[in-house]
This record gives sequence, C-alpha cells and structure tokens, in this order.
Amino acid sequence: MQRQQKKPMTDCEKTKKYFVGPVATEFVAAKTGVWRVVRPDVTIEDCIFCGTCRKHCPADVVTVAKEDPNSGVYFDWDYCKGCGICANICPKQCIAMIPEEGVCKL
Ligand code: SF4
Ligand code: SF4
Repeated sequence: MQRQQKKPMTDCEKTKKYFVGPVATEFVAAKTGVWRVVRPDVTIEDCIFCGTCRKHCPADVVTVAKEDPNSGVYFDWDYCKGCGICANICPKQCIAMIPEEGVCKL
C-alpha cells in the first residue's frame, strides 16, 4: 500500500500568521438604485393592476395602486436596480426598460 505524503507546511502555518484581508465592521444597506442603467417605464393605459410586477420584484420596490385618483405603478428609485424582471414578467407587456438619464450609452 502506498503511503500518503504529508503536505508541506505553508509559510502561514510555519509562522502562525494568518492574513484574513479586509473585514467589514459595519453593515450599511446599499442603495441599489445606483446600479441602475435602465429603468422600468409603465404604459399605464395598458396596465390591469394585477400586481405581478410587485410580487416578482426581488428588491420589493414596486407599489401598485389601483384606487383613483392616484392609480398607477410606482417604483422606489433609491432601490430599484433596473434588473428588468418586472418588465419580463408583466402579462400585459406594458413595462419597458428605458435608459437611465445621465448614463453613458456604449
Ligand atoms: S405586471 Fe404589468 S399589468 Fe400587472 S400591475 Fe404590473 S405593470 Fe400592471
Ligand atoms: S427593474 Fe428589477 S428592481 Fe426595479 S422594479 Fe423591476 S424587478 Fe424591481
């Protein structure tokens, strides 16, 4: 039977010094809205207020308000990251992803 060779010690193991790298000491919720390069834009005339966009938004930033006079679909722009899931899932296809203002076009 072949004997298993012992793994050579690393420099860290020899000196017992371990480098763990930068460690976060404070958690601050990132405003994911800064990631956005495109934003959802609803054609409200076609919206049926089903709430599918709200249910599937991973950032939970969509408000669907059916009641008059404030009926509409609203987004929290501080946290909408422009992922486009709402636009893809909308059964009426009435959400378009449009370029964010001030973002360079490639
Ligand atoms: S998924 Fe589309 S149709 Fe449904 S509430 Fe959202 S925007 Fe309106
Ligand atoms: S683009 Fe993404 S984060 Fe923004 S509202 Fe739609 S699903 Fe939510």
